[in-house]
Amino acid sequence: MTHLTIQRSSSVRELLAAGTPSISFEFFPPKTPQGEQALWRTIRELEAVRPTFVSVTYGAGGSTRDRTVEITERLAGDTTLLPVAHLVAVDHSVAELRHLVGRFAAAGVRNLLALRGDPPGGDPLGQWTKHPQGVAYAADLVRLIKVAGDFCVGVAAFPYRHPRSPDVESDTRHFVEKCRAGADYAITQMFFRVEDYLRLRDRVAARGCETPIIPGIMPVTRMSTIERSEQLSGAPFPPELAAAFDRVAHDPDAVRRLGIDHTVDMCVRLLDEGVPGMHFMTFNTSAATLEVCRRLGI
Ligand code: FAD
Repeated sequence: MTHLTIQRSSSVRELLAAGTPSISFEFFPPKTPQGEQALWRTIRELEAVRPTFVSVTYGAGGSTRDRTVEITERLAGDTTLLPVAHLVAVDHSVAELRHLVGRFAAAGVRNLLALRGDPPGGDPLGQWTKHPQGVAYAADLVRLIKVAGDFCVGVAAFPYRHPRSPDVESDTRHFVEKCRAGADYAITQMFFRVEDYLRLRDRVAARGCETPIIPGIMPVTRMSTIERSEQLSGAPFPPELAAAFDRVAHDPDAVRRLGIDHTVDMCVRLLDEGVPGMHFMTFNTSAATLEVCRRLGI
């Protein structure tokens, strides 16, 4: 396979090595023209915060491949932002994955987040079937990308453990293997208890792995976010926090205030713990993320 030479620009690896905690925002490719307009409005609003990087997800079952390439390409060309493209193994042959890596490189995108990917159909725990000519795990995708050229590659981490992992021990072992396959950093699934992140970090460090693990942050702004977070992450929402939200569930403003307060408290504690950065899942809106950043003095 040809080794791609990619135009030199910042990589997340270099930016993390600089030592200042990174701030990053995650977007998803919208399905409608209105959604597209809202996304670019959000991007312009969040650009003012000068994030370290922004990432664009890849739809479940590999459903948004062209949109993910188009948006990251436009981010690279038309904005001051450093784009990271999510790339998933699900439903792709090795040849298709190599072709996509080449398309990202041609668009000047050399920061990729290598993921196994959610199965098609919207249920993260639905049947996952390997493409007959594809790869089975994210670690294989990390290797495929690293062989293809000078890419900076991130991977996913799961504070509570991945919902498909039978136990925490095997989850940690496979995560460390994924890092040793060449991952430069990891971003976690959303979590709501700082201790869950710290335990993951300790487990990984105990295995001698020093890959920086960036916490994934999702502010709860309405009651439905709690259920959605459980669906997406497969992790139970902390009962004591759920009870606090239940007490104000009748008042949408109070729910939002509690969600933002909790996120700010978590971020302050995480920063005190020396995290390498914070990755905000924005759901393509800026208000909650901007409010948290403002209160953190970012
Ligand atoms: P892997 O690292 O391959 O792990 C999957 C499971 O297999 C784990 O249980 C692991 O322990 C186990 N395992 C790994 N290696 C082995 C082995 N050798 N033998 C046996 N078991 C093994 N999904 C999308 O579809 N699109 C996205 O854009 C997207 N973005 C995400 C961003 C972040 C920050 C996170 C945290 C998740 C994201 N996801 C996305 C979801 C992710 O793709 C799914 O959770 C997927 O099921 C797991 O992906 P992974 O890359 O961690 O898989």
